Amino acid sequence: MIKEYTIPACSGMKIDVKQNDTITVIDLEGGQVVDFFAEAKGNPGEFLSPRVTIDCNESLKLRTGDTIYTNLYRPMMEVVSDDVGEHDLLHPCCRPEMYAFFYHNGTGHPNCLDNINTALGERRPLITPINLFMYTKLHEDGRISVEKPLSKAGDRIVLKAKMDLSLGVAACSVSESLCNSGSCSPIKIVIEELHR
Ligand SMILES: [Zn+2]
Repeated sequence: MIKEYTIPACSGMKIDVKQNDTITVIDLEGGQVVDFFAEAKGNPGEFLSPRVTIDCNESLKLRTGDTIYTNLYRPMMEVVSDDVGEHDLLHPCCRPEMYAFFYHNGTGHPNCLDNINTALGERRPLITPINLFMYTKLHEDGRISVEKPLSKAGDRIVLKAKMDLSLGVAACSVSESLCNSGSCSPIKIVIEELHR
């Protein structure tokens, strides 16, 4: 069985997934970042952790074959295939304070923190997701710069769930920088049940 979800620009969604399901995240128009977060089903205290993922994989990058881990160091998902090869494991979800800091327009701005919290029915003070398709360039002197995503229309990353989980996913709301190529667009998620 295949379920398809389209997440409009600047909004978020909760999607429940079972162990062994495949999760395909598609950048419909290209150049769009997906704030991708998840909780263990029924236990919001265990959640996707980019920091633990960096630790376990001993890499600042996410590559095909890598595992994505929870804050409790348990495998949560696995990268099955990837058209793009550039994803960000460093940045927290955008939030009103971030828009105020950089662009002086935080009040009322749509943002991934609120969109994911609302979708999951949580009030986390900070969410650090995996920012799929976000291109954060790492420079030799330690600086980072956010560049235009390399994803083209229809590019996708395919993940396999290693546990039952609830995804909290947002199409990122930043139109003020190169992060989403200067404008926000929708994304698509396809969930395929393979082994039930
Ligand atoms: Zn965002």
